[in-house]
Amino acid sequence: MTAISVVIPIYNESGNIQSLYERLTSVIKRITADYELLFVNDGSRDDSLQLIKELAGKDSAVGYIDFSRNFGHQIAVTAGLDHCKGDAVVIIDADLQDPPELIAALYQKMNEGFEVVYARRKDRKGESWMKRTTAKYFYRILASITSINIPLDTGDFRIMHRNIVNILKQMPEQQKFLRGQISWVGFNQTFIEYDRDVRNSGETGYTYKKMIRFALDGITSFSTLPLKFASALGFFVSVAAFIISLYVLYSKFILSNVVPGWASLMLVVLFLGGVQLICIGIIGEYISRISANVRNRPLYVIKEIRV
Ligand code: UDP
Ligand code: MG
Repeated sequence: MTAISVVIPIYNESGNIQSLYERLTSVIKRITADYELLFVNDGSRDDSLQLIKELAGKDSAVGYIDFSRNFGHQIAVTAGLDHCKGDAVVIIDADLQDPPELIAALYQKMNEGFEVVYARRKDRKGESWMKRTTAKYFYRILASITSINIPLDTGDFRIMHRNIVNILKQMPEQQKFLRGQISWVGFNQTFIEYDRDVRNSGETGYTYKKMIRFALDGITSFSTLPLKFASALGFFVSVAAFIISLYVLYSKFILSNVVPGWASLMLVVLFLGGVQLICIGIIGEYISRISANVRNRPLYVIKEIRV
């Protein structure tokens, strides 16, 4: 029996692992002696794995999963959820942007009768204007186009009851957008607020490319509005095209004043071509995800595990 598991995705965090370990241990020891710290090494290129193995050698509460390559943050967390044993499971970033000390409050709140307690960011220190602004608007747009209630200004830092984790393990989709999946599960969910610190050491593993992919996963996993938008746009353009073609016929046969209209022809062709490409692109986003799920590949490959 394990009371609390802490799942920690690791991608090039060698400068943070020691102080993270110390802060986590001192907080959780005050709650229970029965806990595990499960590090998931997501293909780090630095000596993170070495540091984790040293901790595991000294402390039996430390376990680790080592991926064969970088699979991404959400998948690393998923692997941790798949293999942890705790009755309560905490997800936390390794860079100390999520203060470990908050776990005590999260745990206490959970015991008041909540299945999920997430930590909501009041302030985001030290993150670029670009990152704060894109994140802010992304979550607001997502909230307005999805049917489920994904909390605003919230990362994956949270505590969950074992029941929630068991349900997440039954959700086999390939595009993991955990904060959306957890909201989808339901039960009693609440939050506490905190100030997000600056990254302790190292640099963000979330490149803009990864952020865009993550945002697209969130939208396509929880909203079909873009598909509906594509159909609506297609319909609107077809109606407009029909009206314009009536005018073209009118000009040709009644007014008889047509001159070789290269410019207008090009405009119409370009416009229609553009709209068609947008729609095909939107549909393609979904099809690519359908095909990923049909393939049914395992989500990750573990090189070594000790839990
Ligand atoms: N991370 C990961 N795989 C990745 C990128 C990040 O496991 O491909 C981990 C990283 O080590 C950290 C957490 O995910 O524990 C959050 O990443 P990061 O701090 O780089 O993201 P940011 O806070 O800048 O959004
Ligand atoms: Mg961070």
